[in-house]
Amino acid sequence: MTETDSAPAAAPHAPAEKSAADIQRLFKAQQPRALALRESTAAERIDKLRRLRRLMFDRREAIMDACHADFGKPRAEVEVTEILPVVAEARHACARLKSWMKPQRKRPTLLLLGTQAAIHTEPRGRCLIISPWNYPINLSFGPLVSAIAAGNTVILKPSELTPHCARLMAEMIAELFDPSEVTVVQGAVATAQSLLDLPFDHIFFTGSPAVGRVVMAAAAKHLSSVTLELGGKSPVVVDASADLDNTARTLVWAKFANNGQTCIAPDYVYVHEDIRDAFLKACVSALEALYGDQGRMADNQDYCRIVNDKHHARLRGILEDAHERGARLTTGAIPDNTDRYIAPTIVTDIPADARIMEEEIFGPLMPVLGFNDLSTAIADINARPKPLALYIYAKDKAVIDRILASTSAGGTAINTAMLQFLHKRLPFGGVNNSGIGNSHGHAGYRAFSHERSVLRDRFSLAFLFRPPYNAFTRQFIRFTVRWLG
Ligand code: NAD
Repeated sequence: MTETDSAPAAAPHAPAEKSAADIQRLFKAQQPRALALRESTAAERIDKLRRLRRLMFDRREAIMDACHADFGKPRAEVEVTEILPVVAEARHACARLKSWMKPQRKRPTLLLLGTQAAIHTEPRGRCLIISPWNYPINLSFGPLVSAIAAGNTVILKPSELTPHCARLMAEMIAELFDPSEVTVVQGAVATAQSLLDLPFDHIFFTGSPAVGRVVMAAAAKHLSSVTLELGGKSPVVVDASADLDNTARTLVWAKFANNGQTCIAPDYVYVHEDIRDAFLKACVSALEALYGDQGRMADNQDYCRIVNDKHHARLRGILEDAHERGARLTTGAIPDNTDRYIAPTIVTDIPADARIMEEEIFGPLMPVLGFNDLSTAIADINARPKPLALYIYAKDKAVIDRILASTSAGGTAINTAMLQFLHKRLPFGGVNNSGIGNSHGHAGYRAFSHERSVLRDRFSLAFLFRPPYNAFTRQFIRFTVRWLG
């Protein structure tokens, strides 16, 4: 497939749901392997990661074709946002795995002088990864890298909404692994539910907060541990001190890349009233610099499409709702469904009860709201569930510090957007409604590992705390409590 084939291909038939019995068989087959992997060495795991990295590189054309077929994703964008983060994750893990696996020695506390202690990381065991459609390869193989690094077996269930990518990943994994170690199970909700019925040691879920609740409830039945990478509305605050050109350039890219279908995309923007008009003008210029003349953006091969008709209709619905209530469109228009295209749409004058300010947008619609007093913007952000990302554009350090201190978010980028995802030394995750736990780099390795405390007694005085409690031991205990108290 070439750049000039603009329309996404028709979706192949959705994969048949896998039967509960087949899933159970796969799960059972992974148990002996999971036990064997506990003793796997860093060198063995690194070898698997290297082979995965090499395969990503060898199959990059197929990956680009699959992403284009599923939602018209531009090939360069596939390289930047699907292939690059996975190979970077694998490279980072290969370089550091030996040190991550080394037990971390801990100095004894005063009470336990005479002991040796360390934290050992052990594989969690049988892991389930359920992934979404919006970065279908990145958000499936990214966590897979961490799971392999940590020495686990994996069943990976990709989204049914990107079937070309799901099929390709199934082929790639079958090429590299025996299903008793890593396997891809294709299917939709029924398949996911059969998987969730099983007592996995760890479930790593990426998707919506609504389904995150279903996953956590299912995990509770077996007390499986979970990492939930969820979504929500990620706000942006643009202070009057911000550099407008940089703000517009980075924000517009972050909002409209992947057609706005990004968990950490800026969802809505609060801009200081003093610079609101200049900001809107800068955004229009930045948009045209990225995607060309507004009238011809639909022809631009660098601009992605909405994943399916259902999501297209949902986005059209929330835009119509805002428009009918008096919101104005600075760019874009109410879309028809040609080729699942929605123009980059900047929306202003939005009434507070418009749907666009209630649900996660997950598309190329950018509501812009004004503020005069930073406190009102902060209060509005804090009145909503804690977001996955919060972006701050300001030169004034006091403003940056105040926003950081008074809000909560999974992550924050300052004077840029989305780059926090690419920094492998930063944990990536949400808070409460936007997620539980972290991924990426060492944080990803730890998500798929159990941290086991190991203590060895050499010559501690712990025996003095045991009966029989004679005069001497009672005195010793009393002295110790008073000393530490
Ligand atoms: P989704 O929650 O609808 O689906 C995610 C996965 O869950 C899919 O594999 C799907 O088959 C499965 N699923 C759907 N319904 C299920 C059910 N009832 N029981 C069990 N499994 C079920 O999410 P999506 O539409 O694929 O992705 C969009 C959402 O994901 C957005 O909210 C976005 O913010 C979030 N997201 C978060 C991150 C992150 O890293 N935090 C990354 C990407 C997307």
